[in-house]
Amino acid sequence: MPTKPSSVEFADTISDLMNAIAGWLLIGLGTAAFLSGLGGVIQYAGTADMVIPVLVLLFSFVFITSGMLVNPRFRRRLDRRHEVSRFGRIQSVDSRVLSESENRVESCTSCDAKMREGLVRRYHEEYTAAGVPIWTLSENHNFYCSSCATEELPGLTLTDRDDDSTTEQVVTEVE
Ligand SMILES: [Zn+2]
Repeated sequence: MPTKPSSVEFADTISDLMNAIAGWLLIGLGTAAFLSGLGGVIQYAGTADMVIPVLVLLFSFVFITSGMLVNPRFRRRLDRRHEVSRFGRIQSVDSRVLSESENRVESCTSCDAKMREGLVRRYHEEYTAAGVPIWTLSENHNFYCSSCATEELPGLTLTDRDDDSTTEQVVTEVE
């Protein structure tokens, strides 16, 4: 089965890194421009010279936004964003399969049995602005053994061992 050749993966890593560096440079430049623009606006407030610092401010916003868009870390955040209209605290739940290879022993939330594989449910509360997660307020994990997981979530198969296969759903909105 042809997978990605390692050279492509390497190039991906490098381009991720370059994007991250470019992103942080743009954000740094934007922040510097923002601060000097802000200082200029305060200094020249009400005069005709105010146009230049205002332009600097506009450019700083462009720098910061493009810096965020180019940065893979922020992009991943944008990827798991909620609806744009969402502001404030959002609670979400996602579940993934706990596999034996992770070498963890947990006890099942439902039947208290010791388990090495099963289902992990993550309850997650985060603060979002325009749907983009800004910071995590709280995070809780519940573990379910295979038999309880199938009772809890009918239709779920634990044969899928792909760790990327997380399902996420927004349950309630606190505010
Ligand atoms: Zn159980």
